[in-house]
Amino acid sequence: RTLHVELGERSYPIYIGSGLLERLGELSIARGINRNSTHLIVTDDKVAPHYLQQAEETLAAAGYSVISHIVPAGESSKSLQTFEEVMTTAIQGGLDRSSAVFALGGGVVGDLAGFVAATYMRGVTFVQIPTTILAHDSSVGGKVAVNHPLAKNMIGAFHQPVMVLYDVNTLLTLPPRDISAGLSEMVKHGLILDRDFAYWCRDHAADLLRLDPEALSYGLERGCAIKADVVSKDEREGGLRAILNLGHTIGHAIEAVGDYGRFLHGEAISIGMAGSAMLAEKLGRDKGIYEETVSMLKALNLPVTLPPDVSVDDIMAAMQHDKKFTEGRMVFIVPEAIGAVSIVKDVPVDAVRCVVEMLKGES
Ligand code: NAD
Ligand code: ZN
Repeated sequence: RTLHVELGERSYPIYIGSGLLERLGELSIARGINRNSTHLIVTDDKVAPHYLQQAEETLAAAGYSVISHIVPAGESSKSLQTFEEVMTTAIQGGLDRSSAVFALGGGVVGDLAGFVAATYMRGVTFVQIPTTILAHDSSVGGKVAVNHPLAKNMIGAFHQPVMVLYDVNTLLTLPPRDISAGLSEMVKHGLILDRDFAYWCRDHAADLLRLDPEALSYGLERGCAIKADVVSKDEREGGLRAILNLGHTIGHAIEAVGDYGRFLHGEAISIGMAGSAMLAEKLGRDKGIYEETVSMLKALNLPVTLPPDVSVDDIMAAMQHDKKFTEGRMVFIVPEAIGAVSIVKDVPVDAVRCVVEMLKGES
Protein backbone atom coordinates (compact mmCIF):
# COMPACT_ATOMS: atom_id res chain seq x y z
CA ARG A 1 0.00 0.00 0.00
CA THR A 2 1.24 3.46 -0.84
CA LEU A 3 0.20 6.79 0.63
CA HIS A 4 1.36 10.22 -0.43
CA VAL A 5 2.30 13.22 1.63
CA GLU A 6 1.28 16.17 -0.53
CA LEU A 7 3.78 19.00 -0.11
CA GLY A 8 4.25 20.37 -3.61
CA GLU A 9 7.76 19.65 -4.83
CA ARG A 10 8.61 18.09 -1.47
CA SER A 11 5.83 15.46 -1.80
CA TYR A 12 6.83 11.90 -1.01
CA PRO A 13 5.44 8.36 -0.84
CA ILE A 14 4.92 6.23 2.27
CA TYR A 15 5.16 2.53 1.41
CA ILE A 16 3.57 0.17 3.94
CA GLY A 17 3.72 -3.62 3.66
CA SER A 18 5.57 -6.81 4.44
CA GLY A 19 8.93 -7.61 2.87
CA LEU A 20 9.62 -4.03 1.81
CA LEU A 21 13.09 -3.89 3.34
CA GLU A 22 14.27 -6.25 0.57
CA ARG A 23 13.13 -3.63 -1.93
CA LEU A 24 15.06 -0.74 -0.37
CA GLY A 25 17.67 -0.71 -3.15
CA GLU A 26 15.15 -0.80 -5.96
CA LEU A 27 12.95 1.88 -4.38
CA SER A 28 15.98 4.08 -3.74
CA ILE A 29 16.75 3.97 -7.45
CA ALA A 30 13.11 4.78 -8.20
CA ARG A 31 13.33 7.83 -5.91
CA GLY A 32 16.39 9.03 -7.79
CA ILE A 33 19.04 8.46 -5.13
CA ASN A 34 22.42 8.90 -6.75
CA ARG A 35 24.54 5.80 -7.34
CA ASN A 36 27.84 7.70 -7.55
CA SER A 37 27.86 8.96 -3.97
CA THR A 38 28.44 7.20 -0.67
CA HIS A 39 25.39 6.97 1.59
CA LEU A 40 24.97 6.56 5.32
CA ILE A 41 22.68 4.25 7.29
CA VAL A 42 22.07 5.34 10.88
CA THR A 43 20.61 2.73 13.23
CA ASP A 44 20.82 1.66 16.88
CA ASP A 45 22.37 -1.31 18.62
CA LYS A 46 19.06 -3.09 19.16
CA VAL A 47 17.84 -2.71 15.58
CA ALA A 48 21.19 -3.38 13.88
CA PRO A 49 21.48 -7.11 14.76
CA HIS A 50 18.07 -7.76 13.18
CA TYR A 51 17.93 -5.56 10.10
CA LEU A 52 21.15 -3.72 9.26
CA GLN A 53 22.74 -6.45 7.18
CA GLN A 54 19.64 -6.81 5.04
CA ALA A 55 19.46 -3.05 4.48
CA GLU A 56 23.13 -2.89 3.50
CA GLU A 57 22.85 -5.87 1.18
CA THR A 58 19.84 -4.64 -0.73
CA LEU A 59 21.47 -1.26 -1.25
CA ALA A 60 24.75 -2.87 -2.33
CA ALA A 61 22.89 -5.17 -4.73
CA ALA A 62 21.32 -2.09 -6.33
CA GLY A 63 24.79 -0.62 -6.89
CA TYR A 64 25.03 1.71 -3.91
CA SER A 65 28.06 2.29 -1.77
CA VAL A 66 26.97 2.57 1.88
CA ILE A 67 28.52 3.00 5.30
CA SER A 68 26.75 2.58 8.63
CA HIS A 69 26.78 4.21 12.03
CA ILE A 70 25.27 2.39 15.03
CA VAL A 71 24.25 4.48 18.05
CA PRO A 72 23.27 3.15 21.49
CA ALA A 73 19.52 2.43 21.69
CA GLY A 74 17.46 4.93 23.66
CA GLU A 75 16.51 8.58 23.97
CA SER A 76 20.01 9.54 25.21
CA SER A 77 21.24 9.15 21.63
CA LYS A 78 19.16 12.17 20.59
CA SER A 79 22.04 14.35 21.82
CA LEU A 80 24.45 16.85 20.29
CA GLN A 81 27.28 14.50 21.22
CA THR A 82 25.85 11.58 19.24
CA PHE A 83 24.97 14.02 16.45
CA GLU A 84 28.62 15.04 16.26
CA GLU A 85 29.76 11.41 16.19
CA VAL A 86 27.42 10.63 13.29
CA MET A 87 28.68 13.75 11.50
CA THR A 88 32.25 12.52 11.97
CA THR A 89 31.33 9.22 10.31
CA ALA A 90 29.67 11.11 7.45
CA ILE A 91 32.68 13.38 6.88
CA GLN A 92 35.25 10.58 7.18
CA GLY A 93 33.15 8.42 4.86
CA GLY A 94 33.22 11.17 2.22
CA LEU A 95 29.49 11.89 1.96
CA ASP A 96 28.78 14.71 -0.47
CA ARG A 97 25.83 16.91 -1.44
CA SER A 98 24.24 14.07 -3.42
CA SER A 99 24.48 11.58 -0.58
CA ALA A 100 21.53 10.23 1.36
CA VAL A 101 21.08 9.46 5.04
CA PHE A 102 18.90 6.42 5.79
CA ALA A 103 17.28 6.22 9.24
CA LEU A 104 16.75 2.55 10.12
CA GLY A 105 14.98 2.40 13.48
CA GLY A 106 12.43 4.03 15.72
CA GLY A 107 11.70 7.66 16.45
CA VAL A 108 15.03 8.22 18.15
CA VAL A 109 17.06 7.16 15.14
CA GLY A 110 14.64 8.95 12.80
CA ASP A 111 14.89 12.26 14.66
CA LEU A 112 18.69 12.05 15.03
CA ALA A 113 19.48 10.86 11.49
CA GLY A 114 16.98 13.37 10.12
CA PHE A 115 18.75 16.20 11.89
CA VAL A 116 22.05 14.97 10.44
CA ALA A 117 20.44 14.90 6.98
CA ALA A 118 19.00 18.40 7.50
CA THR A 119 22.37 19.89 8.43
CA TYR A 120 25.12 17.90 6.70
CA MET A 121 26.38 20.31 4.02
CA ARG A 122 23.18 22.33 4.66
CA GLY A 123 20.94 19.40 3.83
CA VAL A 124 21.11 16.09 1.99
CA THR A 125 18.54 13.47 0.96
CA PHE A 126 16.79 11.69 3.81
CA VAL A 127 15.04 8.30 3.84
CA GLN A 128 12.96 6.97 6.73
CA ILE A 129 12.82 3.22 7.37
CA PRO A 130 10.72 3.09 10.56
CA THR A 131 10.96 -0.08 12.66
CA THR A 132 8.64 0.83 15.54
CA ILE A 133 4.89 1.37 15.61
CA LEU A 134 5.48 4.75 17.18
CA ALA A 135 7.52 5.77 14.16
CA HIS A 136 4.37 5.77 11.95
CA ASP A 137 4.01 9.14 13.59
CA SER A 138 7.60 10.37 13.83
CA SER A 139 8.69 9.27 10.34
CA VAL A 140 6.01 11.36 8.61
CA GLY A 141 6.04 15.13 8.63
CA GLY A 142 9.66 16.20 8.59
CA LYS A 143 10.20 17.29 12.18
CA VAL A 144 13.73 16.25 13.11
CA ALA A 145 15.67 17.12 16.25
CA VAL A 146 18.04 16.30 19.05
CA ASN A 147 17.52 17.17 22.71
CA HIS A 148 19.29 19.80 24.80
CA PRO A 149 19.95 18.75 28.41
CA LEU A 150 17.44 21.43 29.45
CA ALA A 151 14.68 20.61 26.99
CA LYS A 152 13.53 17.95 24.59
CA ASN A 153 13.60 18.47 20.80
CA MET A 154 15.03 21.98 21.26
CA ILE A 155 17.62 21.74 18.49
CA GLY A 156 15.98 20.77 15.26
CA ALA A 157 14.72 21.50 11.78
CA PHE A 158 12.02 20.70 9.29
CA HIS A 159 13.46 18.27 6.76
CA GLN A 160 11.14 16.02 4.79
CA PRO A 161 12.24 12.53 3.74
CA VAL A 162 12.12 11.52 0.05
CA MET A 163 10.32 8.33 1.05
CA VAL A 164 9.12 6.38 4.05
CA LEU A 165 9.54 2.63 3.74
CA TYR A 166 7.57 0.78 6.38
CA ASP A 167 8.20 -2.94 6.43
CA VAL A 168 5.67 -4.31 8.93
CA ASN A 169 7.70 -7.52 9.28
CA THR A 170 10.34 -5.56 11.18
CA LEU A 171 7.79 -4.88 13.92
CA LEU A 172 7.68 -8.56 14.91
CA THR A 173 10.78 -8.19 17.11
CA LEU A 174 9.41 -5.25 19.11
CA PRO A 175 9.17 -5.66 22.90
CA PRO A 176 5.58 -5.53 24.28
CA ARG A 177 6.08 -2.17 26.00
CA ASP A 178 7.16 -0.58 22.74
CA ILE A 179 4.17 -2.12 20.95
CA SER A 180 1.74 -0.45 23.35
CA ALA A 181 3.69 2.80 23.37
CA GLY A 182 3.46 2.96 19.58
CA LEU A 183 -0.26 2.27 19.62
CA SER A 184 -0.65 5.32 21.84
CA GLU A 185 0.20 7.62 18.90
CA MET A 186 -2.03 5.50 16.66
CA VAL A 187 -5.13 5.97 18.81
CA LYS A 188 -4.16 9.64 19.22
CA HIS A 189 -4.66 10.07 15.47
CA GLY A 190 -8.18 8.71 15.91
CA LEU A 191 -8.88 10.84 18.96
CA ILE A 192 -7.96 14.08 17.19
CA LEU A 193 -9.64 13.58 13.82
CA ASP A 194 -11.36 10.25 13.26
CA ARG A 195 -13.90 8.94 15.71
CA ASP A 196 -14.43 5.67 13.84
CA PHE A 197 -10.71 4.98 13.79
CA ALA A 198 -10.41 5.62 17.53
CA TYR A 199 -13.13 3.04 18.19
CA TRP A 200 -11.60 0.70 15.62
CA CYS A 201 -8.32 0.81 17.60
CA ARG A 202 -10.19 -0.12 20.77
CA ASP A 203 -12.16 -2.90 19.09
CA HIS A 204 -9.04 -4.35 17.46
CA ALA A 205 -6.76 -3.83 20.44
CA ALA A 206 -6.11 -7.55 20.90
CA ASP A 207 -5.23 -7.98 17.21
CA LEU A 208 -2.97 -4.93 17.28
CA LEU A 209 -1.19 -6.05 20.43
CA ARG A 210 -0.40 -9.43 18.92
CA LEU A 211 0.76 -7.73 15.70
CA ASP A 212 -1.84 -9.32 13.46
CA PRO A 213 -0.59 -8.28 9.98
CA GLU A 214 -3.99 -7.19 8.65
CA ALA A 215 -4.90 -5.09 11.67
CA LEU A 216 -1.43 -3.64 11.95
CA SER A 217 -1.20 -2.64 8.29
CA TYR A 218 -4.60 -0.99 8.40
CA GLY A 219 -3.84 0.80 11.67
CA LEU A 220 -0.49 2.10 10.44
CA GLU A 221 -1.96 3.15 7.13
CA ARG A 222 -4.82 5.07 8.72
CA GLY A 223 -2.51 6.60 11.33
CA CYS A 224 0.00 7.70 8.67
CA ALA A 225 -2.81 9.01 6.45
CA ILE A 226 -4.20 11.23 9.22
CA LYS A 227 -0.74 12.52 10.07
CA ALA A 228 0.09 13.12 6.39
CA ASP A 229 -3.15 15.01 5.89
CA VAL A 230 -2.50 17.36 8.81
CA VAL A 231 1.10 17.93 7.74
CA SER A 232 0.20 18.72 4.15
CA LYS A 233 -2.23 21.38 5.38
CA ASP A 234 0.25 22.92 7.82
CA GLU A 235 3.83 21.79 7.22
CA ARG A 236 5.46 24.20 9.67
CA GLU A 237 2.93 24.25 12.46
CA GLY A 238 1.40 27.62 11.80
CA GLY A 239 -1.79 26.41 13.46
CA LEU A 240 -3.62 23.18 12.66
CA ARG A 241 -0.58 20.95 13.09
CA ALA A 242 -0.62 21.70 16.81
CA ILE A 243 -3.56 19.31 17.22
CA LEU A 244 -1.05 16.48 16.83
CA ASN A 245 0.22 17.50 20.26
CA LEU A 246 -2.82 16.09 22.06
CA GLY A 247 -1.56 14.73 25.37
CA HIS A 248 1.96 16.05 24.75
CA THR A 249 1.99 19.08 27.07
CA ILE A 250 1.53 16.89 30.12
CA GLY A 251 3.27 13.97 28.39
CA HIS A 252 6.53 15.83 27.75
CA ALA A 253 6.57 16.95 31.38
CA ILE A 254 6.12 13.32 32.50
CA GLU A 255 9.00 12.23 30.25
CA ALA A 256 11.22 14.97 31.70
CA VAL A 257 10.36 14.09 35.30
CA GLY A 258 11.16 10.46 34.49
CA ASP A 259 14.56 11.56 33.09
CA TYR A 260 13.55 10.35 29.61
CA GLY A 261 13.96 6.73 30.63
CA ARG A 262 11.33 5.79 33.16
CA PHE A 263 8.38 6.40 30.83
CA LEU A 264 8.38 5.67 27.11
CA HIS A 265 7.17 8.56 24.94
CA GLY A 266 3.95 6.72 24.09
CA GLU A 267 3.30 5.87 27.73
CA ALA A 268 3.79 9.47 28.82
CA ILE A 269 1.43 10.81 26.18
CA SER A 270 -1.15 8.17 27.09
CA ILE A 271 -1.24 9.58 30.62
CA GLY A 272 -1.26 13.04 29.02
CA MET A 273 -4.26 12.15 26.84
CA ALA A 274 -6.14 10.83 29.88
CA GLY A 275 -5.33 14.18 31.52
CA SER A 276 -6.55 16.15 28.47
CA ALA A 277 -9.83 14.26 28.60
CA MET A 278 -10.22 15.11 32.30
CA LEU A 279 -9.45 18.72 31.51
CA ALA A 280 -12.07 18.72 28.74
CA GLU A 281 -14.75 17.67 31.21
CA LYS A 282 -13.52 20.23 33.72
CA LEU A 283 -13.86 22.92 31.05
CA GLY A 284 -17.45 21.86 30.44
CA ARG A 285 -17.11 19.53 27.45
CA ASP A 286 -19.25 16.37 27.18
CA LYS A 287 -19.34 14.09 30.15
CA GLY A 288 -18.09 10.72 29.01
CA ILE A 289 -15.03 11.86 27.03
CA TYR A 290 -12.74 10.81 29.88
CA GLU A 291 -14.28 7.40 30.35
CA GLU A 292 -14.26 6.62 26.62
CA THR A 293 -10.68 7.83 26.16
CA VAL A 294 -9.44 5.80 29.11
CA SER A 295 -11.23 2.68 27.86
CA MET A 296 -9.32 2.97 24.58
CA LEU A 297 -5.96 3.52 26.24
CA LYS A 298 -6.46 0.71 28.73
CA ALA A 299 -7.47 -1.69 25.96
CA LEU A 300 -4.05 -1.04 24.42
CA ASN A 301 -2.31 -1.80 27.77
CA LEU A 302 -1.35 1.83 28.25
CA PRO A 303 -1.03 3.66 31.57
CA VAL A 304 -3.63 6.33 32.39
CA THR A 305 -2.48 7.43 35.86
CA LEU A 306 0.70 8.79 37.41
CA PRO A 307 2.62 6.64 39.89
CA PRO A 308 2.34 7.90 43.50
CA ASP A 309 6.00 8.91 43.80
CA VAL A 310 5.82 11.42 40.92
CA SER A 311 5.57 14.97 42.30
CA VAL A 312 2.87 17.31 41.02
CA ASP A 313 5.22 20.25 41.58
CA ASP A 314 7.88 18.63 39.41
CA ILE A 315 5.38 18.06 36.59
CA MET A 316 4.17 21.66 36.80
CA ALA A 317 7.77 22.94 36.85
CA ALA A 318 8.64 20.83 33.79
CA MET A 319 5.68 22.30 31.90
CA GLN A 320 6.84 25.78 32.83
CA HIS A 321 10.26 24.96 31.46
CA ASP A 322 8.62 24.04 28.18
CA LYS A 323 7.63 27.78 28.08
CA LYS A 324 4.02 26.82 27.84
CA PHE A 325 2.62 29.32 30.39
CA THR A 326 1.85 33.01 30.03
CA GLU A 327 0.30 34.88 32.93
CA GLY A 328 -1.34 31.91 34.58
CA ARG A 329 -2.80 30.66 31.27
CA MET A 330 -1.61 28.07 28.83
CA VAL A 331 -2.33 26.66 25.39
CA PHE A 332 -3.87 23.21 25.46
CA ILE A 333 -5.28 20.76 22.94
CA VAL A 334 -8.69 19.99 24.39
CA PRO A 335 -10.91 17.11 23.22
CA GLU A 336 -14.36 18.32 22.15
CA ALA A 337 -15.60 14.77 21.57
CA ILE A 338 -14.01 11.48 20.53
CA GLY A 339 -12.47 12.32 17.15
CA ALA A 340 -12.46 16.12 17.53
CA VAL A 341 -10.20 18.53 19.38
CA SER A 342 -9.71 22.28 19.62
CA ILE A 343 -6.74 24.47 20.44
CA VAL A 344 -7.65 26.40 23.59
CA LYS A 345 -5.32 29.31 24.27
CA ASP A 346 -6.35 30.41 27.75
CA VAL A 347 -6.60 27.33 29.93
CA PRO A 348 -6.00 28.33 33.58
CA VAL A 349 -2.81 26.78 34.94
CA ASP A 350 -4.77 25.98 38.11
CA ALA A 351 -7.11 23.71 36.16
CA VAL A 352 -4.11 21.89 34.70
CA ARG A 353 -2.62 21.48 38.16
CA CYS A 354 -5.88 20.05 39.38
CA VAL A 355 -5.83 17.54 36.49
CA VAL A 356 -2.27 16.46 37.33
CA GLU A 357 -3.40 15.88 40.92
CA MET A 358 -6.32 13.83 39.65
CA LEU A 359 -3.95 11.76 37.48
CA LYS A 360 -2.24 10.78 40.73
CA GLY A 361 -5.59 9.94 42.27
CA GLU A 362 -5.29 12.86 44.69
CA SER A 363 -8.72 14.40 44.41
P1 NAD B 1 13.03 4.32 19.90
O1 NAD B 1 13.55 4.75 18.60
O2 NAD B 1 13.89 4.50 21.10
O3 NAD B 1 12.61 2.78 19.82
C1 NAD B 1 12.12 2.13 20.96
C2 NAD B 1 12.99 0.94 21.35
O4 NAD B 1 12.75 -0.13 20.45
C3 NAD B 1 14.48 1.19 21.27
O5 NAD B 1 15.10 0.51 22.34
C4 NAD B 1 14.89 0.56 19.95
O6 NAD B 1 16.23 0.13 19.96
C5 NAD B 1 13.96 -0.60 19.88
N1 NAD B 1 13.59 -1.05 18.53
C6 NAD B 1 13.28 -0.28 17.48
N2 NAD B 1 12.86 -1.03 16.46
C7 NAD B 1 12.90 -2.31 16.89
C8 NAD B 1 12.56 -3.55 16.29
N3 NAD B 1 12.00 -3.59 15.08
N4 NAD B 1 12.74 -4.67 17.00
C9 NAD B 1 13.23 -4.62 18.26
N5 NAD B 1 13.54 -3.48 18.89
C10 NAD B 1 13.38 -2.34 18.20
O7 NAD B 1 11.67 5.05 20.26
P2 NAD B 1 10.29 5.27 19.49
O8 NAD B 1 9.27 4.95 20.50
O9 NAD B 1 10.23 4.64 18.17
O10 NAD B 1 10.32 6.85 19.23
C11 NAD B 1 10.34 7.77 20.30
C12 NAD B 1 10.99 9.04 19.83
O11 NAD B 1 10.26 9.57 18.73
C13 NAD B 1 11.03 10.13 20.89
O12 NAD B 1 12.32 10.70 20.91
C14 NAD B 1 10.01 11.14 20.40
O13 NAD B 1 10.33 12.46 20.79
C15 NAD B 1 10.14 10.98 18.91
N6 NAD B 1 8.97 11.43 18.16
C16 NAD B 1 9.18 12.26 17.12
C17 NAD B 1 8.12 12.70 16.35
C18 NAD B 1 8.36 13.56 15.16
O14 NAD B 1 7.39 14.07 14.58
N7 NAD B 1 9.57 13.76 14.75
C19 NAD B 1 6.81 12.27 16.66
C20 NAD B 1 6.62 11.41 17.74
C21 NAD B 1 7.72 10.99 18.48
ZN1 ZN C 1 4.41 12.03 20.18
